[in-house]
Amino acid sequence: MPFATSWGGCAFAVLLGLLWGSFANVCIYRWPPTEEFPEGRSVVKPGSHCSACKAPIHWYDNVPLLSYLWLRGRCRACGTSFSPRYLLVEALTGALFGVAWWFTLGMGGMYETADVRLVRFVIDAWFVFTMVVVTFIDIDHKLILDKVTIPSIALAYLAGFALGHAWWEGLVGIAIGYGGPWLIGELYYRLRGREGLGLGDAKLLALVGALLGWKGVVFSLFGGSVIGSIVGIVHLARARKEIMTTELPFGPFLAAAAVFYLFAEPWIELYFRLV
Ligand SMILES: [Zn+2]
Repeated sequence: MPFATSWGGCAFAVLLGLLWGSFANVCIYRWPPTEEFPEGRSVVKPGSHCSACKAPIHWYDNVPLLSYLWLRGRCRACGTSFSPRYLLVEALTGALFGVAWWFTLGMGGMYETADVRLVRFVIDAWFVFTMVVVTFIDIDHKLILDKVTIPSIALAYLAGFALGHAWWEGLVGIAIGYGGPWLIGELYYRLRGREGLGLGDAKLLALVGALLGWKGVVFSLFGGSVIGSIVGIVHLARARKEIMTTELPFGPFLAAAAVFYLFAEPWIELYFRLV
């Protein structure tokens, strides 16, 4: 597979990531419940439109990154400015697809056959896409939606199979992923009298465990806590006046650590096999 493993393949992966990032924006914007739509909205119908003037956005104004820069982040019809967050989500997804390419089909891939590496890329790309959606919905609404995590747990378990995991590995991962945070939450509640980890976080970790096993869960939980503490300290230092009134969602930190582990795992496994 010369093209897939060439730098052209990398550029193609980034392009694919930009397009999926564009779709991630739609999911992030439409899936969460609102007063008008308690179940969230469809990501298919209606087509993209300006949230201010409802004018449909034509395909040529909907090209990832370029349209935003070309129109300077404004609606062509009414001139309302769109949040630069749209740009960030597209760029982030594009970059993560590029990294996923490098770690599977590129230089960072393991010595596996080309088709296994391609399957690994598809799974990694799907996983990072899901983590991007979870992260930004959690930032916006402090919510991790069941309609994202529950179907993804089933998909992740099947993906584990496709990568040759034993049938029980994903199940153990799901059990530890869901049970661990639940137990921590229970203990925290007994000790401190308030909620620590939510069940949304537990389902997110069950999703991580379904694909990456119990080690992925443990890594994400500890890695997420470390990233969360660092960001929390910075956040606290900057918002000295309104101390602790704004609680940070934990999902983005778990997702970041899980993505790190997703890419690092084959290398960590190799390291321990050699030691
Ligand atoms: Zn408009």
